[in-house]
Amino acid sequence: MTTTYAFEHLHQPEGWLSPGYVTVENGLITAVEASAPLKGATLPVAGYALPGMHNLHSHAFQRVLAGRTESVTEMRTTDDLWTWREAMYGLVEALSPADYQAIAEFVYVHLLKGGYTTVCEFHYLHHAPGGARYANPAETSERLLQAAIDSGIALTLLPTLYLHGGIGRPVAGPQRRFAHEDPSEYLALIERLHGAYGATPTLRIGLALHSLRAVAPAELLAVTTAGLQPPERRVHIHVSETKQEVAEVEAGLGARPVRWLLDHTDLDQRWTLVHATHLDAAEQRGLATSGAVVGLCPLTEATLGDGVFPLVEHQTAGGAWGIGSDSNYAPGVAEELRMLECGQRLRLARRNILAVPGSAVTAHSGRRLYDLALAGGSQASGGLSASLTKGQRADIVVLDALSPGLLGHGPTTVLDAWLLGGGEQAVRDVMVNGRWIIRDRLHPREALVARRYAETLARLSAH
Ligand SMILES: [Zn+2]
Repeated sequence: MTTTYAFEHLHQPEGWLSPGYVTVENGLITAVEASAPLKGATLPVAGYALPGMHNLHSHAFQRVLAGRTESVTEMRTTDDLWTWREAMYGLVEALSPADYQAIAEFVYVHLLKGGYTTVCEFHYLHHAPGGARYANPAETSERLLQAAIDSGIALTLLPTLYLHGGIGRPVAGPQRRFAHEDPSEYLALIERLHGAYGATPTLRIGLALHSLRAVAPAELLAVTTAGLQPPERRVHIHVSETKQEVAEVEAGLGARPVRWLLDHTDLDQRWTLVHATHLDAAEQRGLATSGAVVGLCPLTEATLGDGVFPLVEHQTAGGAWGIGSDSNYAPGVAEELRMLECGQRLRLARRNILAVPGSAVTAHSGRRLYDLALAGGSQASGGLSASLTKGQRADIVVLDALSPGLLGHGPTTVLDAWLLGGGEQAVRDVMVNGRWIIRDRLHPREALVARRYAETLARLSAH
């Protein structure tokens, strides 16, 4: 089926097209024009049409911890990522595959409402409590795939290899649910999932290595050597999130984590390094010129007290980056990019830290943040929706010009208004693969998904 939409304002790589005519056929954009096609009707769409954002790092189940780890006790008066992890492990013990799916669909519906059309799910909860195998080795992976299919979001599923509880230490306790026997068992899962889902237009299967703490060098190299094909296959890894992790890797492997990856792997555009918060100057330069994407999760990194990534230095050196919602406490593109920009402004004591003069596309912080995060995010997901141009998948987010934060703005400043001026209710319609998933801010499964999520929370609280 072919449909032509007449968008009032259409985001294009070089600026805005107002109006912009987009023809969509079988989920793909087949034409973008400045005037209406000679034949056939066009459907008018008011507002600002953007390429949907790619969320390059999510652990859907961690949403359950939102608002549940924000206190101290007599026994624990200081708190950081490692104490938060204890709470996360407590949750992991209790989750069933059905819980996992219910939470994921809830998160995915809200990611769509927040302006994301693709999510990369970094998925490490593979097995039953204690590490017993489910009859279907892809049980929890398929729960996430089904949550994505039902919610309508595009998914790059990243089943994650997790073999050790720290360098030279076996997995213990809840970590047994994460651990495969060896790289072969893990690669068999990847091939099984790729065979079953790889041909679906909105689904992709990639690789993930939990961290250099959880995967030993020989295991990492075995997986990337055998698993990094076909060419669009991606690999993600957590790296340098805390100083403690940097010290552990330096002691165990003889190099800081990013240094180790630069020296021992073919770090290139297929790789996404999640967090990469703590870098020395040589790591920062090497990473920026490697082609790899840095996966920044500004709100999660802030709530965990991880530290601040040297974004300006990375951008100036030509580095790629994108954003992830990680623990999914606030699943919106605007909140995430605002935290990112404002964190850098606080760090550097100056404003408009990524903007560069020259054109309206580069000189405005909102537009600059959006375009750079989109480029890195689409590279990290390995998808086909990096822009609203011919040949790309029709993944479109429409902002409502009449929403409170956008009133009085035009194309030049609309993204500044949305991302930095407080336009939380701006996302009105969302299309994925040529199909409207959200119209007038309503997802058709929203009420059902919220009820299932609430039931899951009630059961987990009683646990
Ligand atoms: Zn993570």
